[in-house]
Amino acid sequence: MTDPDRQIWDGMLGYLRRHAAGVCRQWFEELAPISVDGGALLLRAHSNVHRDYLRNSCSEPFNDAARTVSGRLLAVRFLGPDDPVPVPQRDAGRARSIVEPKLSTHADDPSPGQPSVPEVRGVHSPSPRISAAARESMGGGRTQMDPHESTIVRNEETLVINPDYSFEHFVVGSGNRLAHAGAVAVAGNPGRSYNPFFIHGGVGLGKTHLLQAICIQLKEQSPNAVICYLSCEGFLTHFIEAVGSNEMEQFRHRFREVDCLIVDDIHFLAKADRTQEEFFHTFNSLYSASKQIVLSSDEAPEEIPNLEERLVSRFKWGLVAKVEAPDFETRVAILKNKARLRGLALPDEVAAFIATRIHKNIRELEGAIGKLQLLVAVDSRPIDMDMATQVVGETPPKPTSEPTIQSIITTVTDFYRVRLVDLQSERRQRSVAQPRQVCMFLIRHMTRHSLEEIGGYFGNRDHTTVMHAIKMVESRRIQEPDFDIVVQSLEDRIRAVTP
Ligand code: ADP
Ligand code: MG
Repeated sequence: MTDPDRQIWDGMLGYLRRHAAGVCRQWFEELAPISVDGGALLLRAHSNVHRDYLRNSCSEPFNDAARTVSGRLLAVRFLGPDDPVPVPQRDAGRARSIVEPKLSTHADDPSPGQPSVPEVRGVHSPSPRISAAARESMGGGRTQMDPHESTIVRNEETLVINPDYSFEHFVVGSGNRLAHAGAVAVAGNPGRSYNPFFIHGGVGLGKTHLLQAICIQLKEQSPNAVICYLSCEGFLTHFIEAVGSNEMEQFRHRFREVDCLIVDDIHFLAKADRTQEEFFHTFNSLYSASKQIVLSSDEAPEEIPNLEERLVSRFKWGLVAKVEAPDFETRVAILKNKARLRGLALPDEVAAFIATRIHKNIRELEGAIGKLQLLVAVDSRPIDMDMATQVVGETPPKPTSEPTIQSIITTVTDFYRVRLVDLQSERRQRSVAQPRQVCMFLIRHMTRHSLEEIGGYFGNRDHTTVMHAIKMVESRRIQEPDFDIVVQSLEDRIRAVTP
């Protein structure tokens, strides 16, 4: 890797911290840049779980960072620890060496010049039987894996798991000790310790985390094991599609020929009678072959409404473990753990302050850390009690005087690193259009200037353009929590400098 190429990667890390703070993790530092070649920056992750997660959840911000920092149409390709470096088409004959010495160049790679990086075992295109949602969650540029969408994981397909959800990052406390111990036992000895393993409990208490931790460990210890991890809704979707296309044979084969079946949120089965029947047979077939079954639900088996008795009793054959809300010490430990993952220094008093205010749902604790991460990026200062107060919703009273257009524009242009002349120009690229819209929104929201005045200020634009910009910002604030936090933080900052 040449010095200018390394500079691109270093610049990208800084850009990501500033503009995509929500996705940034401490382990991004461990990604190894290999080369910039054929219009792509190759980055090597230290596990396939990290690689797949990056491909699925981080492609868009990484590509954006690569384009902005390099100033050209540069894309990012993620490799796993054993993936060969692809040889660009133009160089195929000359086989230019662009690989670190410790890795094999795989000169016999059958697909030189492929725009996407070939896998050691080959990532097959997802089967046409898999729903569009599942396909997208396997290969699309989504920002976050939604556990409610089906993600089928088989050894010939990409495992889409959040690397944060490993046993290593799971904090054990009184509320989850049994569930954690069960999960560790099942992952260490699948099919033979507790079968099925059933975790239940309220929202945001770590069920999905434990299910994914089992997947991660199984994948590490037996890379060839066929693990099928999906949400109950995924199972229902596959079933309905199979019925519709008359492919029940393939469906049965798909779910009964696995080493481990992991279904999240199985309580959704209660709503679909025919799938209960099908799941019953799938269960029996796997169980009699000593294949591991892991299930999670928001209720204990006997409390899932409308679940057939024969399934209730089967779900209780192995270990049923409940997860409960964490105690204060566990909440503090979780906050510190999540902050470490995101590379944030979290003062003890801030952790304690947040832990006393959020007690029921761990997802909210994680949300608080995510908001702190964004504030750190926006304000460029370490975490303090002021930020913590902002994050848990006890905001200081707002001043009554109106900010100036100038203070709004300076705050926004500083944050997005654009110039006022760009905002006033005709340019429509996202990097300019987005701050322009945010400026228009904030001016309209925080001052008494009319739509016409605002439009006039931004390069003589029509008042309908301003209205459109405001609507865009409003709808994005609803749909994208990270964006909402950025806008809120900009507003707080403007108010802070308003006398
Ligand atoms: P559930 O599936 O029970 O609704 P999740 O597994 O999605 O909850 O957990 C919500 C969030 O809380 C995730 O970010 C997860 O990592 C985190 N979390 C839950 N329990 C723990 C724990 N004991 N240690 C660390 N993080 C946890
Ligand atoms: Mg869940």
